[in-house]
Amino acid sequence: MEETKNPEDERETRSLNFIEEIIEEDIRNGVNEGRVHTRFPPEPNGYLHIGHAKSICLNFGLGKKYNGKTNLRFDDTNPVREEVEYVDSIMEDVRWLGFDWEDRLFYASDYFEQLYEYALILIRKGKAFVCDMTAGEISETRGTPTRPGKESIYRSRSIEENLDLFSRMRTGEFPDGTRVLRAKIDMDSPNMHMRDPVIYRILHAHHHRTGDSWCIYPMYDFAHGQSDSIERITHSICTLEFEVHRPLYDWFIREIGIYAPRQIEFARLNVTYTVMSKRKLLELVRDGNVNGWDDPRMPTICGLRRRGFTPESIRNFADTIGVAKRDNVIDVSLLEFCIREDLNKRANRLMAVLNPVKVVIDNYPGDLVEEMESASNPEDESKGKRKIPFSKTIFIEREDFMEDPPNKFFRLAPGREVRLKAAYIIRCESVVKDPETGEIAEIHCTYDPQTKSGMPESNRKVKGTLHWVSEKQAVKAEVRLYDRLFTRENPDDVEEGKTYKDYMNPDSLKVVTAMIEPSVLTAGIFTPGGFDKFQFERIGYFSVDKDSTPEKLVFNRVVPLKDSWSKVEKTK
Ligand code: ATP
Ligand code: MG
Repeated sequence: MEETKNPEDERETRSLNFIEEIIEEDIRNGVNEGRVHTRFPPEPNGYLHIGHAKSICLNFGLGKKYNGKTNLRFDDTNPVREEVEYVDSIMEDVRWLGFDWEDRLFYASDYFEQLYEYALILIRKGKAFVCDMTAGEISETRGTPTRPGKESIYRSRSIEENLDLFSRMRTGEFPDGTRVLRAKIDMDSPNMHMRDPVIYRILHAHHHRTGDSWCIYPMYDFAHGQSDSIERITHSICTLEFEVHRPLYDWFIREIGIYAPRQIEFARLNVTYTVMSKRKLLELVRDGNVNGWDDPRMPTICGLRRRGFTPESIRNFADTIGVAKRDNVIDVSLLEFCIREDLNKRANRLMAVLNPVKVVIDNYPGDLVEEMESASNPEDESKGKRKIPFSKTIFIEREDFMEDPPNKFFRLAPGREVRLKAAYIIRCESVVKDPETGEIAEIHCTYDPQTKSGMPESNRKVKGTLHWVSEKQAVKAEVRLYDRLFTRENPDDVEEGKTYKDYMNPDSLKVVTAMIEPSVLTAGIFTPGGFDKFQFERIGYFSVDKDSTPEKLVFNRVVPLKDSWSKVEKTK
C-alpha cells in the first residue's frame, strides 16, 4: 500500500533552501522589522515559460510562507519590444498557476517620473553625464574584461550643461541615438557593468502604457533595482546572470540615497529537450515551427496548460527541483512525472483505441450489447464506476496483435488468449487480410462466457489484458500525439555549423483518429468546471483541446503512461 502524503506536511519537514535561510536570518535579526516582501518582475516582451513558473512559485511561495506580500511588476522599460498582448498573457498565467498579487500590480513605467528625478540627483552630484558618443563609439571605448576602457571626452561636462542637455533630451530636441545619459563610475573597473554604463537613451517610440509622453527611456538596469526600492521589496530574487549587475544596483541605490532591498541570485531553471530563451521561442512562433505560443509542444505556461498540465503539477515540479545556486539542467521526465502523479489521482479512466483494428467475436450473439462495469478511477473509489458497452465487434490496438509473435509477446496472436479489460477472455482463431495490401483487416476470435469480469468464475489467469472499444458505440475523436520538440538533450549546445533548429524533432506531432468508449460523451467535458483530462487506459494521459466542439472532440496527449504493462496486469 502506498502511503498518502500530505504535501503541506512534507514542505514543513523539508530543510530550508538557501534563500529561506537568508530570509529567516533576516527575520531573526529584525531586518526590515521582520517584513518579507517579494515580487515577480517580468518584462512584457514574450510569453512566460516553465522557467518563469519556477520564479513565480518561488517569489509568491516565499510571500505566502512568511506572511509577507508579493507584487507583480512589469519591468516595461523597452517600448520597442513590449506589447499589451504579453502583459495580458502574463497576468493570466500567474493567476492560472494559483497566485494572487491582490492590489499590488505595478509597472516600472509608473515610475518614469521618479526615475527621471533619480537621474537628476546623480547629475547634480556629478555622478552622471550626457555623452554624445554613438552606440558604436561607446562600445569600442568600453575595453574588455582584461583591458580598461577609455573615458569619454564628455565625462567632464559641467553639472549645469548636463542638466540642460538632459532636460532637452526629455523634451525631444535630439534625434534617437545622438546622446545618452551615462553614470560616472569607473572605466577601469574589472566589472564591465561599472564602466560608465548608459542609464538613459533617446527613443522616440510609443510605449504601451505611457504613450508618447516620453522620448527618453531608462535602461533596464537603471529601472529594475530602483523599482524594487520604490516598492520596498525586502528580498529581490533574481537569476544568476544578475549577480554581476548587483554592484551597479547597489551603487545606484547608495548614490541616490534610497531604501536598499537585498538581492539574492539563484540558478535559472533549464529543462532538457527544449529551449527557453524568449528570443528562440519567439522565432519558433514567428517562423511557423510551432502553431503559436500555446502550441502544446512549447515550454510556455500557456503551451503546458493547453497540453493538459495542471497548475498543481507545475507547482509541485517547482517545489521538487528546489532552488540551486549553480546552473543546472533538469530532466524533463521529472516534469512528466509530476503531471502523471497528479492526473493518476484525479483523471477518470477511459478506454480509447488510437490505432484500431477490428475484432469479431464469432460466438458472441450478433444483436447483444452488454453493459460492462469498470472503476472510473481505481485510485479514487468515490468516483464510482462507469458502464462500457460490449458487443460482437470491437476495436483493439493494431500493436496488440501479432501474427507471428515472439515468446514474450503476451498480447493477442493466433491461438492465444488475452483478457479484454472489464469484459471476457478471448482467443484468436483466424485473421482476414486485405487482399491488396496484405494488412490485417479483421481478427476473428471466440470468447469464453465463463470469464466475464467480476464473476466468481472469472479468475482464470491469462498473461495479457487489452483495452478495447465496441465498434457501434465508439466515439471518434482526433488525437494529437505530441513528442519532444527537440531530439537533442540540450538543443542550445550545437555542433559546428548548426543551429538549435537543426535539432527539431520531425515527429513531435502525429495526428490520429481514435475510437473512444461512449462515456466520454457524458463525462462533462463541456460543463463549466468539468474536468477535461483522462487516462486512456494503457496509453497515457489526455486532455481535451480548445479546438474541441461537442460535434468533434480533439484530445492532446499530455504524457504517455510509463510502466503501462505492469500496471495493467496488477489492476486487472
Ligand atoms: P529577458 O532576456 O527578456 O530578460 P527573461 O527570461 O529574463 O528574459 P524576464 O521577463 O526578465 O525574462 O523574467 C522575469 C523573471 O523571471 C526574472 O526575475 C527572471 O530572473 C526570472 N526567470 C527568467 N527565466 C528564468 C528561468 N529559466 N528560471 C528561473 N527564473 C527565470
Ligand atoms: Mg530578464
